[in-house]
Amino acid sequence: NELAANVWTLATADEIDSSNTQLMTRAAQGAPHGLVLAAERQTAGRGRLGRRWQMPLGAGLTFSALWRFERGLSGLAGLSLVVGVAMVRALRSFDVPVQLKWPNDVLLDGRKLAGILIELSGDALGPAAVVIGIGLNMASPGEVDQPVANLADAGYQVGRNALLAELLNQLADVLATFDRDGFAAFHAEWTACAAFLQQPVLLRFSHGEPVEGVALGVDDHGALQVATAAGPRVFHVGEVSLRAA
Ligand code: ATP
Repeated sequence: NELAANVWTLATADEIDSSNTQLMTRAAQGAPHGLVLAAERQTAGRGRLGRRWQMPLGAGLTFSALWRFERGLSGLAGLSLVVGVAMVRALRSFDVPVQLKWPNDVLLDGRKLAGILIELSGDALGPAAVVIGIGLNMASPGEVDQPVANLADAGYQVGRNALLAELLNQLADVLATFDRDGFAAFHAEWTACAAFLQQPVLLRFSHGEPVEGVALGVDDHGALQVATAAGPRVFHVGEVSLRAA
């Protein structure tokens, strides 16, 4: 598993506050397409909406990658789902049977193995620059406030560098396709990888009451379609978290 595509430039650090924060700063300063920042340890890893990503020394694989799209920001709906598809392809190539939870978690046996944090930089008019952060548990990350999984305790012996190379190779592939064809090109593959379809789910928002329903699927922009007692509803990737109900 060597890094195949001639796309990525890898920079490593022993310790970093947050690889997404660092790469966002460098992106604003003109860092090149394909710059990847990987760190042994993150002291202030972030999830969405200011939540923390926990990664003690030796427990994780964590990196962020800068991708400069031809598309503008408005064409990026579905991007976090597409990154999930790249992660599934990479992990399944090591025989790890992962699934995806809308919008952006990778599950092993229904528990969270990895998270994805996507941040956008640049203005709305020009091509979008995107920082894609990935945190994946190689070993136990310690106490987390939701059920989590890690490769070592689940019995998967996967080399960290080999996994990083495969993740980057798959990412280069899906991001180029996504830039050209959008989420529609991944609709069928994402659906085949999804956990919780046709099952009762609970959607929670940072503001407002939770919504119960049955997850039906996603549309061609990656928005979640849910059957609720009040009728069908569609939720966009944003301030919403999904749980099995
Ligand atoms: P949720 O995972 O609750 O549906 P989310 O996908 O938006 O929401 P993220 O922002 O991706 O969550 O990640 C932050 C959350 O991930 C934290 O609130 C915590 O529950 C969980 N978490 C933190 N560290 C880890 C870890 N090492 N492994 C798995 N989960 C973690």
